[in-house]
Amino acid sequence: MGKITGFMEISRQTSTELPPEERTKNFNEFHIPLHQDEQQAQGARCMDCGVPFCQSGMMIGGMASGCPLNNLIPEWNDLIYHGQWALAARRLIATNRYPEFTSRVCPALCEAACTCGMATGYPVSVKENERAIVEYGYSTGVIHAVPPPSRTGKRVAVVGTGPSGLSVADLLNKRGHKVTMYERSDRVGGLLMYGIPNMKLEKWVIDRRVDILKEEGIEFVTNTDVGRDISAQELVDQYDAVVLCCGAKQPRDINAPGRDAGGIYFAVDYLTSVTKSLLDSGFADGKAVSAQGKKVLVIGGGDTGNDCVGTAIRQGCESVTQLEMMPCPPTERTPGNAWPEWPRVLKTDYGQQEAIAKFGSDPRLYQTTVKEFYKNEAGQVCGALIAKLESKVVDGRRMMVPTGEEFSLACDLVLIAAGFTGCEKYVAEAFGVDLTPRGTVADSKYTTSQPKVFACGDMRRGQSLVVWALREGRDTAAVVDASIMGYTNL
Ligand SMILES: Cc1cc2nc3c(=O)[nH]c(=O)nc-3n(C[C@H](O)[C@H](O)[C@H](O)COP(=O)(O)OP(=O)(O)OC[C@H]3O[C@@H](n4cnc5c(N)ncnc54)[C@H](O)[C@@H]3O)c2cc1C
Ligand code: SF4
Repeated sequence: MGKITGFMEISRQTSTELPPEERTKNFNEFHIPLHQDEQQAQGARCMDCGVPFCQSGMMIGGMASGCPLNNLIPEWNDLIYHGQWALAARRLIATNRYPEFTSRVCPALCEAACTCGMATGYPVSVKENERAIVEYGYSTGVIHAVPPPSRTGKRVAVVGTGPSGLSVADLLNKRGHKVTMYERSDRVGGLLMYGIPNMKLEKWVIDRRVDILKEEGIEFVTNTDVGRDISAQELVDQYDAVVLCCGAKQPRDINAPGRDAGGIYFAVDYLTSVTKSLLDSGFADGKAVSAQGKKVLVIGGGDTGNDCVGTAIRQGCESVTQLEMMPCPPTERTPGNAWPEWPRVLKTDYGQQEAIAKFGSDPRLYQTTVKEFYKNEAGQVCGALIAKLESKVVDGRRMMVPTGEEFSLACDLVLIAAGFTGCEKYVAEAFGVDLTPRGTVADSKYTTSQPKVFACGDMRRGQSLVVWALREGRDTAAVVDASIMGYTNL
């Protein structure tokens, strides 16, 4: 696999990132990939370790270690090292139907579990190898439309066109079932389209794939809200199976006095308005919620909050502050968080890097939350009362509690990125499907409390990652196929 001594001879090399000052001038992707020869050399760093946790996707310490799709990473590293790019593309899509998405937005659980990373501190550049392979596949035609040779006569409806829906639809279509995808929004892609900002995933990447899926026979029905525009019963009656892939978009709110002020938005609504305006008109329609000249307060220190920071900076905000309830994580793995577990360490993501470059300091304020929003006479938010928090054991449980210390902060745009509480209930109610107390669909086997109705992705597991949505779609396709055919070869 790879070159046995490659990791000793070749240093890790990754794509060039445009500097923050440059990349914040627009909403384009900002990584300049390596040349193919350079990427080929990176494949040689895969060290034939014999314990490839990188592709295991096992749960260790409550977190996934390695690739949840079980991508055949050592195999395709070896193939690119030997210049066999077409074969590498075929091995890649054997497990991952959409590597163009994961190789742009995945947090690369594989690299955190790479043996070379443990041994040298510099893991194999798996994610960028994946991107080089899939782009080779597209540019040479290795990845192209392959409609199924015959049809089974069975019909499946997939509700929601996020990564889990696209994954389940693709495999069921390949199997020969006639698949129709229903989407509430005007564009296909779920959070890939309206959620993840354009600078992380340019939207032509989604359109390129959707064109192939259409050519292969999948029908897309957009601007159609299932449960409202079309009844659940209609779908159950018309199709042999219905797969719910509606995501977990119900946002966690901040219940504080002044919450009804104008200028307070949920993060995904804000990010959606920006991407939609960008795609519809290059911002000419003026419909994006704008952070231009605003003092922005982002509530939530996670990845969604970081996307809000990066977006607000691109729009020309005056300042940006990000509140995080939890303490700042350590900069290195602690003894209780050894390799190959996912490292619970401080990550300074692209938005935060850009804030540091523009305003001179990290936007994150750890151990803080909002106690009250202040309104001006026009009813618009003009500030917030911030409470400091500390970690304490209360009734046997460790939790973050107020220290009593408080301070005020001026802000005129607030973005709530405090997580999600589950799926929107009306779809589950329309189908009569049971939900768990977490607000997700209640089943561990992708079936639901209703026969013929299945569920996967964030709707089933709660807000997660694209790579998990793809894995769930793959597993669900096999369950649906077995249920309507009596056996499965997926
Ligand atoms: C801001 C943000 C940034 C993120 N960044 C990353 C990242 O960088 N990397 C990563 O791995 N993960 C990221 N995630 C998480 C990732 O996007 C999700 O885990 C993933 O998209 C879930 O896929 P899904 O198919 O289950 O649901 P979704 O992508 O949420 O798709 C659900 C789809 O169902 C549609 N729908 C819902 N109800 C109906 C209905 N009744 N009728 C018709 N259609 C309906 C919705 O419109 C939507 O298109 C991010 C999430 C957010 C919010
Ligand atoms: S999908 Fe993610 S975890 Fe899997 S190989 Fe690609 S980057 Fe790594």
